[in-house]
Amino acid sequence: MKTIFKTFFEKIISRLRFVKSLRFRIFLIIIVVGYVPTLIMRYGILQNYESRAVSLRTAEVENQAKILANHLAVNNYLQNTNSDTINAELLQLSTLYDGRVLVIDQNFVAVKDTYGISEGKTIISEEVIKCFKGKSISNYDSNNHYIEITTPITLTAEVSDEVSVGKIAETENQTIGVMLISVSTDNINIQVLDEKAQTLQLLMTLLVIGLSWVASRVLMKPFDKVTSAIGEVRDGFEGVISDVPDYEETEHIIVAFNEVLKRMKILDESRQEFVSNVSHELKTPLTSMKVLADSLNSQDNVPIELYQEFMLDIADEIDRESKIINDLLSLVKMDKTSADLNVEAVDINKMIESILKRLKPIADQKDIDLIFESVRDVTAEIDEVKLTLAISNLVENGIKYNREHGYVKVRLDADHQFFVIQVEDNGIGIPEESIEHIFERFYRVDKARSREQGGTGLGLAIAKEIIENHGGTITMESKFGEYTKVTIKLPPNGGKEENG
Ligand code: ADP
Repeated sequence: MKTIFKTFFEKIISRLRFVKSLRFRIFLIIIVVGYVPTLIMRYGILQNYESRAVSLRTAEVENQAKILANHLAVNNYLQNTNSDTINAELLQLSTLYDGRVLVIDQNFVAVKDTYGISEGKTIISEEVIKCFKGKSISNYDSNNHYIEITTPITLTAEVSDEVSVGKIAETENQTIGVMLISVSTDNINIQVLDEKAQTLQLLMTLLVIGLSWVASRVLMKPFDKVTSAIGEVRDGFEGVISDVPDYEETEHIIVAFNEVLKRMKILDESRQEFVSNVSHELKTPLTSMKVLADSLNSQDNVPIELYQEFMLDIADEIDRESKIINDLLSLVKMDKTSADLNVEAVDINKMIESILKRLKPIADQKDIDLIFESVRDVTAEIDEVKLTLAISNLVENGIKYNREHGYVKVRLDADHQFFVIQVEDNGIGIPEESIEHIFERFYRVDKARSREQGGTGLGLAIAKEIIENHGGTITMESKFGEYTKVTIKLPPNGGKEENG
């Protein structure tokens, strides 16, 4: 059951993948940005138009009603509704605004109805009662499209005198009746306008959808170009993408991609070079062994001494082969385990002393002095086995590429940031043009000499790898025929970030 649900949801999600696409999102954003304002405008403007028109109409009718109410009061209309002039005015008001006028006296009886149906009837409503207290009230019924206005008919002391607003306010007012007016708002109904707006909005919707579809395609084009350009270079690392597309963003992608491509190309080349170097190095001892064996096989009655001599040579070649393989293995191991060094606090002075002690017999063979100059006592968090290997390689080089009676000096110093180990010898030195290649795998200045000394061309590469894994640096300085100085700078905490 669970799996059925899972596959069902997976199917839905895979169908809805388009939601993740930038093209779809651009399409959606343009629709929202284009469509929402038209919607707001439609309702906003129409509502505004309606309320303005209603308030204008109300004010207009209220004005007319006030004048008329005054006439009614002056002419004592509530007592006698026969005044032709007033009746005509009432009728005019109701026809003008397509409405109805009711005149109600103090007893809530309708004395006049322009429709003629409610005369003599009692009319009590909240508005009428409020109006008797002197308040003019208006209400808009938007569903039935009419405005209801109640205007008080007020009698003042100076009723027959001037009708100035100031005067009336000063004198005692008495509400003797109420005019209840309803006017139709059919002619300001927004329905027609709304229908037009609806048509316009439909057109706008179609236009916005069309435009956003086109825009999303056009805007995404440079990205499609980038994808297809990357697709073209997918096979092999040949060339870079030069056709820079239209956007700054896509340009950044291409620049970054070209960078990666370049790095991959370099990596690929160095991998190829490494493989060909390894094969070459491994083949050399094999070739020697084959030559030695062949020469023995091709001769008859070979003396036993020659056999022994050749067999010793073959054993040497086997040793060499296994040394190369061992060095290669330590390099590969280093590549793999750069993250997990076996770090512990180590007394560096002691470590160097024991390295020199171990190498002393080899140095003695050439009468080479091994000197240890310790400026400071240093204890650091390092991988002792690996750092010993790196420093041994450097000291061994100092011995191998030296002259009789030379020296190899190891100096240990520290400042507040790093501890520094320098291995210096006064041997054959390295030509200037070789220094930049010296840490490359299998690079040797003088192949024959290195081979003669049992070198594999991997010692410095291994040392560099170890030092860098510890977060340190290794540099070489040399003058051909005079001296060589290798400087190692290491952080005292094995390259780990300080916590806190
Ligand atoms: P190798 O196994 O050949 O010694 P390394 O990687 O240790 O390999 O050194 C690479 C090359 O650098 C050596 O072959 C040698 O030519 C040169 N070299 C290294 N150290 C020294 C040194 N102290 N003095 C002179 N040349 C050196």
